[in-house]
Amino acid sequence: MRMILIGPPGAGKGTQAANLVNTYAIPHISSGDMLRGAVKAGTELGKTADRYMKAGDLVPDEVVIGMIIERIAAPDCSKGFMLDGFPRTQPQAAALDTALKAANVELDAVVLLEVPDELIVDRITGRRSDPETGTIYHLKFKPPPAEIADRLVQRKDDTAAACEARLDKYHRDTAPVIPYYAERGLLRRVDGVGSPDEVLLRISAVLGPQGQAS
Ligand code: ADP
Ligand code: ADP
Repeated sequence: MRMILIGPPGAGKGTQAANLVNTYAIPHISSGDMLRGAVKAGTELGKTADRYMKAGDLVPDEVVIGMIIERIAAPDCSKGFMLDGFPRTQPQAAALDTALKAANVELDAVVLLEVPDELIVDRITGRRSDPETGTIYHLKFKPPPAEIADRLVQRKDDTAAACEARLDKYHRDTAPVIPYYAERGLLRRVDGVGSPDEVLLRISAVLGPQGQAS
């Protein structure tokens, strides 16, 4: 199963990916997580990425493309993968296609999580994550257990201002990628409004039990 989860920032991609990768036994490849890892590790790539991420700007294609194409060539991706947050631009989508063609494999599905802009700011500003387990919580919608509340962290870019910038980039750069997959019959639109469990059921329904997208 080779699939992409696409949707605005805060749509629930990371939350849903964490559930889906167990069902389909494929690695969850989050470009955002990989970039935050590089920032934390202080690598050259991380130093470059940090400047863009803080401001809610996209990291340049040449940085992100190399990172992801190398990752999906790793042995644990031979039977599939779930891409979360990549591609985010048309050049990224084209580079992914070229790499998959060269490897003689095809995408099975692109799941678009649809959430209206007016719900996004709340989702993003209330997001917190557990640095020990990576679990994503929300102060209102998925409150953390009291005993771990003190160790939760908030992302630097999860402010109302950076959120506006990220939504603008989503509409300008990422939304144009959607028709590209729709034309090829790969796009599955899923309503991302509702509880995380309801959304998971909707995604599972469009992917099918064995991951045979229908
Ligand atoms: P969210 O899940 O809230 O959309 P991500 O964790 O996917 O956020 O991404 C956080 C930030 O990392 C983005 O705002 C952007 O700066 C950078 N980033 C992540 N993926 C990409 C990508 N494919 N292309 C360019 N920048 C990216
Ligand atoms: P993305 O990876 O698309 O940026 P996340 O999965 O990190 O999105 O979710 C953003 C925030 O919204 C998190 O705090 C998460 O707990 C919360 N969230 C995720 N799915 C839902 C949902 N269906 N309803 C309400 N809140 C949600």
